[in-house]
Amino acid sequence: MDDLYRELIIDRYKNPRFRGELDPCDITFEDDNPLCGDRIRIDLRVDGEVVKEVAFSGRGCAISQASADLLSESIVGKTLDEVRQMSKEDILDMLGIELGPVRLKCALLSLKVLKAGVYGLGAASDELVE
Ligand code: ZN
Repeated sequence: MDDLYRELIIDRYKNPRFRGELDPCDITFEDDNPLCGDRIRIDLRVDGEVVKEVAFSGRGCAISQASADLLSESIVGKTLDEVRQMSKEDILDMLGIELGPVRLKCALLSLKVLKAGVYGLGAASDELVE
């Protein structure tokens, strides 16, 4: 693993910029990754179609929490349609490291939760982050 990116992940895990809850919020969703025990909730405030505020809460491994923080930062100012189009590659680009299948589930949990919320689904599925 590249040291620079590893530092980024540890920094975001220890000092998240977007950790918190938005009450009230317009969109919220929560789910877990049973393989690792990660849990993420994402709250959004939107103005029309534009994401104005984001906060995430939850617990879990450094990769799951760091990816939630980076994802939160990346969607402020995006439209909901842009959020719907986000993919696995966007998360991997932000993290900047190669991940095996188990760690990939950790990294993609936040995007899965976010997209399930934005789509208004009752449950998050892996297909959301293909
Ligand atoms: Zn994990």
